Amino acid sequence: MATHTIAALGSHSALQILKGAKDEGFATIAICKNGTEKPYESFGVADKIISVESFKDILDIQDLLLAENTILIPHASLIAYVGTDRLKDLRVPYYGNKAILEWESDREMERKWLKSAKLKLPRIFNTPKEIDRPVIVKFHGAKGGKGYFLAKDEHDFSAKIKLHADKTKYVIQEYILGVHMYVHYFYSSLTGELEILGFDKRYESNVDSIGRISARDQMALPEEKVDPSYVIVGNIPVVVRESFLPEMFAMGERVVAESKHIAPPGLFGPFCLETVMTPQSEIVVFEISARIVAGTNPYVNGSPYTWLKYNEPMSTGRRIAREIKLAIEQDRLDEVLG
Ligand code: AMP
Ligand code: AMP
Repeated sequence: MATHTIAALGSHSALQILKGAKDEGFATIAICKNGTEKPYESFGVADKIISVESFKDILDIQDLLLAENTILIPHASLIAYVGTDRLKDLRVPYYGNKAILEWESDREMERKWLKSAKLKLPRIFNTPKEIDRPVIVKFHGAKGGKGYFLAKDEHDFSAKIKLHADKTKYVIQEYILGVHMYVHYFYSSLTGELEILGFDKRYESNVDSIGRISARDQMALPEEKVDPSYVIVGNIPVVVRESFLPEMFAMGERVVAESKHIAPPGLFGPFCLETVMTPQSEIVVFEISARIVAGTNPYVNGSPYTWLKYNEPMSTGRRIAREIKLAIEQDRLDEVLG
């Protein structure tokens, strides 16, 4: 059934996306940065590898991709390295609704969307004076949470912000104490069903290692060594307490319903709510990713949840390919491409 080819930039979740596409009968292309082809060759997921100097050069190889009837699957590396502005000019069909990108990339618009979906969000402090509880200060465009810092009051904030070159573009957000839970959803715009495909938590350097040394030893280290950073290095699978599932389904459904108002035809395909779950059993959402997240990578062979639903190996990558296949069969491909 290789009437179409599925392509992804060689990074992030491309192995899973391309493997899933092959399992559903598509031809596959990995677009790699020169020198990074090895995993895509070794794991045998790509029928073809196209090497480029920089991921931005994807705009220059569009004719090649179009000639192979290619559908591009977006992931975070596509957004991070090609950029949302350039993506708007892409002629190669893209799985997903591009109108959502703007709602997700602007912190204020994202907050408006999630608020109208009646999700619990961390409080935002407009000025340092208002800080009355632990906060996390996030700089705009900070790659991998580098430079974020925690503060407990205005005085603490003023001392720490002095160390940063960019003193204007940040947000002061309530720090939610609890455990992190990343919820992987898939919404089928063809069937109208919302699915939960799995959960993960992140493995972040150095914040996930600070707790391994005692407070006494932390005090002995230079400040810059113990200041937490949130640089992602991997993902760990999680199964959630079952009684949280009804609320998690409802949260996802409200996010999808609201997206249909703000950016028709709305959000579809894979997305993720990034949450902190508190000891009071509150689920606080601090971010949404409107596409596949790399936290789905542990589940190349399916998660406990996709096993329940499909009774066959079903990764998020394969779920995307199956949706595209269904759209082709029903002659509705236009509805799922941007
Ligand atoms: P990379 O291609 O690895 O440089 O990643 C591109 C973007 O995706 C970066 O902004 C990363 O923060 C994000 N990212 C990459 N890998 C992961 C992961 N395993 N979990 C969560 N986010 C990730
Ligand atoms: P972000 O850039 O928003 O994805 O945040 C990077 C990391 O900072 C997350 O993976 C969390 O570990 C942490 N984080 C972000 N916001 C909060 C919050 N409001 N409360 C607690 N931890 C947070």
